[in-house]
Amino acid sequence: MKIDLVSIFPQYFTALDLSLLGKAAETGLVHARVHDLRQWTHDRHRSVDDTPYGGGAGMVMMPQVWGEALDTLIHDAPHSNDSDRSEAVRTVLAIPTPSGSPLTQAKAADLATADHLIIACGRYEGIDQRIGDHYRERGLEVYEYSIGDYVLNGGEVAALVLVEAVTRLLEGFMGNPDSIVEESHSDGLLEYPAYTKPRSWRELDVPAVLLSGDHAAIARWRRNRALERTAKRRPDMIASLALDTLDSADRMTLARVGVLLTDTGTHHLEIRAARAEEAALIARLAARTFPDACPPELPAEAMNVFITDHLNEDTFAAHIANPEDQIFVAIVDGELSGYCLVRTGETAIDADMIRPGKIDAGDAYLSKCYVDTPWRGTGLAGALLERSIEYAAAHTQAPRIVVGTHRSNFRAQKFYRKHGFVKKGRRIFTVAGIPNHDVVLVRDLTTFAASEKD
Ligand code: SAM
Repeated sequence: MKIDLVSIFPQYFTALDLSLLGKAAETGLVHARVHDLRQWTHDRHRSVDDTPYGGGAGMVMMPQVWGEALDTLIHDAPHSNDSDRSEAVRTVLAIPTPSGSPLTQAKAADLATADHLIIACGRYEGIDQRIGDHYRERGLEVYEYSIGDYVLNGGEVAALVLVEAVTRLLEGFMGNPDSIVEESHSDGLLEYPAYTKPRSWRELDVPAVLLSGDHAAIARWRRNRALERTAKRRPDMIASLALDTLDSADRMTLARVGVLLTDTGTHHLEIRAARAEEAALIARLAARTFPDACPPELPAEAMNVFITDHLNEDTFAAHIANPEDQIFVAIVDGELSGYCLVRTGETAIDADMIRPGKIDAGDAYLSKCYVDTPWRGTGLAGALLERSIEYAAAHTQAPRIVVGTHRSNFRAQKFYRKHGFVKKGRRIFTVAGIPNHDVVLVRDLTTFAASEKD
C-alpha cells in the first residue's frame, strides 16, 4: 500500500519508522512518503492559511496550496514503478476532521483494500471545504473522518491513527494473523480481559477458568466477559448487534447485566426481590403464565380453580412476608414481566400438591419461574433462574434446589437442564383434584460457589 502524508509538520511522522510499521516499510508492504505542504506555496512567507470568509476566529487552510499538492500526488503517479498494478487502482483521499464520520474498525478494514492512501492533515480551523468537494466531484474517493469526539490542534495524530489502524490489517503485517481476528470491534464487541503471568499479583488472582485447560469453558468465559464489558462501556455497540449472532448463553449473559435484546430493540431489565406492594401484580402475572406450564389436556376450569386458590394476591403477599420464601421479580422497562419463587423450610412443599415427593427436608424448592410471553427466549428466564439459584446457594442451608415440571413440558426440562438441573424422579402434582405427572429435577448447590464464581 502506498501512503502519502501531507502536513506543515512533517517531523510528526518520524514515528512511522518505529515498530511493526517500520518493518512493513522495510519489507515493502507499506510505502509511506511524507510531504511538507509548504513546498507547494509560492509566496515569500510560504503561506498556507488565510482569514475565514464570514468572519470568526482562526485561520483556514487555502485551497490553492492544497489543490496543487493533491493534484501532484494523484497525478504524478508516485509509485508508477509498480509494473504489476492493475488498472483499477483505488486511491482514497482521507481528510481528518473532528466533523468527519467516526473512524471504525470496519472502515479501517475497508481502507486496507485501497492501493493508495493520501492523508491531508489540516491545522488551524481546518482545510477550505472546497478541497473535499472538488476531489469528490472529480470522482476521487474522499473520506472525511474523525478519531473521536474531541478537538486536536492538527490532523497529524489522526493521520497516524489511520495509518496504524489500516496497515496492521494488511495481509502479512502481523506476525500472528489470529491476533487480529479476536480483537475488540472484530465481532461487534469489546475484547475480553487479558491476563499473563504471574498467576497471583498483589493478591489479585488470574480467574481459575483460564488455568483450567478447558477450551470450551475458556471460550464461554471470554465471550461472557466481552458481552458484559461491552454492555457496560458501550451500550451503543450492544444495540447494534445482529440478533442472530447471539446464542441463548449470550442472551442470558446480557440479561444478567440488565440488557434484553429483541427485534424491537434493547430493553432494560432489573431483577430484584419482590416488594410487598407487588403481590397483586405478581398474582396477575402468575395467572396469565401458569396455563402455559400446564399440559394441554388439563381442563381450563381446573386451571382456574388452581389460580384462584394458589396464585392469588394473598398467597403472594404471604410469600413476600415469609422469611423462608424469596420472590425475585423481573422488571422490563418498568413493567413486571417475570418472577421466580424460591421456598425453604417446613412449609416449602405443599403436601396437598405433591405426593409422593422426591424432595428431602432441607432442600430449597423452586416453586415457579414464569416469564411473560414477549420475553421468552430473550435470556430473561435464565437470568431470573440463575439469580434464584445464587440466592439459594448463598442465603439458605439447602444442599440442593428442586423443581418439578410436567413430564410433557420438554421446553421447561431442557431449560432447567441447561442450568445444571438433573432429572431425579417423578411426582404427582395435583391441580384442582386432577393428578398431573411431573418430572422432578435437582440442582446441587454445594458446588455452586466453585463452579459459578468465574
Ligand atoms: N474548526 C474545526 C472544527 O471545529 O471542526 C477544528 C479544527 S482542528 C483545531 C485542526 C485540525 O485538527 C483539523 O483540521 C483536523 O485535521 C485535526 N483534528 C482535530 N480534531 C480531530 C479529530 N477529532 N479527528 C480528526 N482530526 C482532527
